[in-house]
Amino acid sequence: METSTEGAAADGGGSAPVTAPVADEYPAGAGGAAAGGEAAEPAAAPARARASLSPSRASDFMQCPLLYRFRVIDRLPEKPSAAATKGTLVHAVLERLFDAPAAERTAPRAKSLIPGQWDRLRESRPEVVELFADDPEGERLAAWLGEAEQLVERWFGLEDPTRLEPAERELFVEAELESGLRLRGIIDRVDVAPTGEVRIVDYKTGKAPRPEYAEGALFQMKFYALVVWRLKGVVPRRLQLVYLGSGDVLTYDPLLADLERVERKLLALWEAIRQATETGEWRPRPTKLCGWCDHRAHCPEFGGTPPPYPLPLRAAEGDAAGAVPR
Ligand code: SF4
Repeated sequence: METSTEGAAADGGGSAPVTAPVADEYPAGAGGAAAGGEAAEPAAAPARARASLSPSRASDFMQCPLLYRFRVIDRLPEKPSAAATKGTLVHAVLERLFDAPAAERTAPRAKSLIPGQWDRLRESRPEVVELFADDPEGERLAAWLGEAEQLVERWFGLEDPTRLEPAERELFVEAELESGLRLRGIIDRVDVAPTGEVRIVDYKTGKAPRPEYAEGALFQMKFYALVVWRLKGVVPRRLQLVYLGSGDVLTYDPLLADLERVERKLLALWEAIRQATETGEWRPRPTKLCGWCDHRAHCPEFGGTPPPYPLPLRAAEGDAAGAVPR
């Protein structure tokens, strides 16, 4: 799922589990124990030892290198957000609905799954209970669950689950590029036609982006398509983003050249991350999305000071650390 820049703030659910910082999404040979709690590797260790990137973290770095540092290197905690948690809940409901026989995949059935999935979410992530700590009467919680119901209901106007038999749901994928960089993520749904054509589907609980932001929204989908191509040798026939917030469906039929372009972009991105990791030059890039950032208290753009850098440093090479591919 994640991410147009607009959707990133409001969605958070989609390939939702990837919203949490991933310990090994920084290059090896840059220290390492501080971020992941694992044994530090010698500086000469081959980069492939821990070179791994998800769409969420790639988007973080493109949005703001300092945000990437706070999430991946410093692993600063973040508060759960109501919007992201709602996204996670809705994704769980849509996934579980396919457990039922096709004819029983109705809107009432889907909505009836919400309370149970909310219970499961509270058990697996107790911190989400904080969201409603100041709501003793349960009014805000009821309204929030009502919004989740509306999103689930809207889905039935966009797709017909009685006619779908997903090949995969919440599929973890990981592929290694020739450079040693590993790409990974979680795909909401994979449909495979009898002819073998593959469709990758991602649910967004936010609104569809304006046309000028569509390319950013498709980045994550092309990322997944690249992983599938590298894993299976098949270019997915269609990428489909289902926006439950606005009731829109955005599709794109990728070409091999698209995936090759994304691969080059990710390699350039990874090189920029590698340089920033080694030099400690993580530049803030303030945008309107700063309003959603949990780390303003540590951000120089807002008068804050980052925590001491936990990795060994070397001198910067020119200006390359700030050259963030877009
Ligand atoms: S507040 Fe803005 S500039 Fe600062 S780290 Fe967060 S996203 Fe980056």
